[in-house]
Amino acid sequence: MPNNILLKELLKNILKKLGLYHFLQGNYRQLLVAVKGISSQVKYAKFKGTGFECNCCGAMYSQFIPDYPSAENAHAISANEVVAGYGENILCPSCLSTARERLIIALLKDNIKLTGKKILHFSPEKKIYNFIKSSNEVITADIQPLFYKNIDSKIKNEDATHLSFSDNNFDVVIGNHIMEHIPNDAKALKEIYRVLKPGGRAILQVPYSTKITNTLEEPGINDPQKQSTLFGQKDHVRIYQMQDYISRLQYCGFKVSLMEYKDLSMYYKNAIQLNEAFLSILK
Ligand SMILES: [Zn+2]
Repeated sequence: MPNNILLKELLKNILKKLGLYHFLQGNYRQLLVAVKGISSQVKYAKFKGTGFECNCCGAMYSQFIPDYPSAENAHAISANEVVAGYGENILCPSCLSTARERLIIALLKDNIKLTGKKILHFSPEKKIYNFIKSSNEVITADIQPLFYKNIDSKIKNEDATHLSFSDNNFDVVIGNHIMEHIPNDAKALKEIYRVLKPGGRAILQVPYSTKITNTLEEPGINDPQKQSTLFGQKDHVRIYQMQDYISRLQYCGFKVSLMEYKDLSMYYKNAIQLNEAFLSILK
């Protein structure tokens, strides 16, 4: 292993031992976002005008910023035709909201209206968290809570497969793109079902493929490089086949209906991700 990689690993391990790694990583990401935000506003000033409207910040541009997977992730994404948040018009040039955040916010504004609800929000995405917290009671949670401290300082340390909450506790559970990270997804889905009130709603979007015939997975894997090659991200353990994911949800007791991309045409103006379908999931 080259010296600089060894040094990087050593520093990472020291920071992990000190309990600082995920906290610094979360803050570093926010800093990168802030710097990128300033430069993209300058770069995209010429595209200001009609076309797409960001439903997080209200900015309007004829083009949003594209986002493509890194070289090590690209093959798995393209070979399996994974709908994974990449493509043209993904990031808002003004606030850097992502297409996947804008889809959820569009639905929350227009379709799933939430006021006065008790919500459990896993791995909180900043824009979604800020949107729901103004009119709801929101508890945030993650298995690496320090990573999200800069979004919610009160975030709880929770393992989705062993939740500390009592049964029938939440009106809504949001876990946007978390299931593909969890080795025992069946257990996490059962736990989410357990803590939801009867009639409650789960928002559990995942990267998925309709090209593959079976979900590709290796729940026991712990090899970032191989995970990139197989699943298109170094911390993913699977690529869901869409119908199989729906079956896994139904097996846990959820009632699932699919809003296909063509059913979401009223939100195209918000530059949602091309081809992304939305799963309506109810207990
Ligand atoms: Zn924006």
